[in-house]
Amino acid sequence: MGLKDKGLLVVISAPAGCGKDTVIAELKKADDNVKQSISMTTRAPREGEVDGVDYYFTTVENFEKNIFNNGFLEYVKYGINYYGTPKKAIEENINEGKSVILKIEVEGAGNVRKIYPDAISIFIMPPSFSELSRRLKNRGTETPEDIERRLKIAETEIERAKEYDYIVINDDLSACVDDVLSIIRAEHLKYNNMKNTIENIINN
Ligand code: 5GP
Repeated sequence: MGLKDKGLLVVISAPAGCGKDTVIAELKKADDNVKQSISMTTRAPREGEVDGVDYYFTTVENFEKNIFNNGFLEYVKYGINYYGTPKKAIEENINEGKSVILKIEVEGAGNVRKIYPDAISIFIMPPSFSELSRRLKNRGTETPEDIERRLKIAETEIERAKEYDYIVINDDLSACVDDVLSIIRAEHLKYNNMKNTIENIINN
């Protein structure tokens, strides 16, 4: 048996309220080869969040030690908190041929593209601004000021959608998941991602 082809690094960004967590959960259910990178953050866990599942929650001191030790593929300071993508698990998964999803904001996505030009990037859009506003209100967790602030951020994030390879609209969840899965499958079949597989075919 020859070498396996490497997996893909898939960057997914979306404004708050676009349903990216649900989309990613469905992707993982639909395809065993899809893994999600667990980021490290210095923000406090929200209710229901589990250390090592949603994030690795850590101290500023430990986070900065990791920066110093070159442990992150990328990291940002978003608001008052650090968020970073640990390198090691990603490399292991990609070497095993898995697709690894990074759920990161637009700044980090730009950094990943610079460091890892083969990464594919997907921006998830709401069907409309009025729908996004309705979804944020329905969550019932934010004040009207918070919602206004998030909509403003969403506007600036959507302006940067042009930096991404693919735009997927989350109007209907299963259609959105299908779109993302189709992108991942098609990217896997690109010649450059099939070289080892072709080599194995020739040698067998
Ligand atoms: P939250 O605090 O709501 O979980 O995340 C805030 C933002 O940080 C979200 O847009 C999320 O996608 C992004 N984020 C989470 N982990 C990382 C990371 O490792 N790197 C970067 N650049 N952004 C991240």
